[in-house]
Amino acid sequence: MSAITLIARGAGRLRARAPKIEAVLQQRTLKSISRAVGVGLHSGQRVELTLRPAPPDTGIVFRRVDLPEPVEIPMEAQFVTDTRLASTISRGGAKVQTVEHIMSACAGLGLDNLYIDITADEVPILDGSASSFVFLLQSAGIVQQKAPRRFIRVTRMVEVREGEGANEKWARLEPYHGFKLAFEIDFSHKVVNSTGQRVEFDMGSGSYSRDIARARTFGFTKEVEYMRSKGLALGGGLDNAIVMDDTKVLNTDGLRYDDEFVKHKILDAIGDLYIIGKPLLAAYTAFRSGHALNNKLLRELLTQRDAYEIVTFENEAQAPRGFAEVARAW
Ligand SMILES: [Zn+2]
Repeated sequence: MSAITLIARGAGRLRARAPKIEAVLQQRTLKSISRAVGVGLHSGQRVELTLRPAPPDTGIVFRRVDLPEPVEIPMEAQFVTDTRLASTISRGGAKVQTVEHIMSACAGLGLDNLYIDITADEVPILDGSASSFVFLLQSAGIVQQKAPRRFIRVTRMVEVREGEGANEKWARLEPYHGFKLAFEIDFSHKVVNSTGQRVEFDMGSGSYSRDIARARTFGFTKEVEYMRSKGLALGGGLDNAIVMDDTKVLNTDGLRYDDEFVKHKILDAIGDLYIIGKPLLAAYTAFRSGHALNNKLLRELLTQRDAYEIVTFENEAQAPRGFAEVARAW
């Protein structure tokens, strides 16, 4: 814990005694390099991932280092080109699929600047949640940089909707001094129905790693069979997803959280929203949203120039609760 954190948490007396230091809320990157090897969920291909520190104001940038000429794809809503099964970003002819879980981990740990070198067109699925990425990022260590963190503060409500009746889905952002999410799913499946279908999470709680990051992606055997016949989900299985048949969970260890399904949707939304390139200060509420609608929401926000502003915090007392601290491990 740094002196900066102590000042932000401390009582008036501690504040008065603390040495004069730069208290602006700073950007963060990794302290050292971290590596992982895994398979892509859809391609089943082996892929290597190398996470590297990046200078201030770089943002999070994927680098396809397997191509003859490495291609850099920075995190920007406009680079999202496919959202059918996962969030895919592309630039020129180069793409990276399934970026949402690692992006969720980066958002959860408050990382601003990072190079993600990747040797294939899909992020490895690892255990199907964000917890392996949290572990990788924390193993490398997180350091503060000499540049203020820039936030996108939502100043009025922005909403997107699709479908009607039983197919209705929507997502919205509203002003909030912090970042919180409320998500509701509506699955008629027996198992999902018996668990919570609505969850709320406030990033200021500092409990992302413990309460959200471990939630795995999920699928149904029927779907998986169909997807495999189309050459998808080739890397998927019981070690990286919750798999259900018509009546039960097939994973022998059961669920990691009672409401793991909807928590995974929150995990995905955190990752999808972080593709905007800066942390949001907003309340996100969604009903049956997914990667496509989350991206549509970001694009809608960006087109409404009067609905947001870029802000920094001169001192941590002004920052939202919990934002000055580096996220807790577990
Ligand atoms: Zn997911």
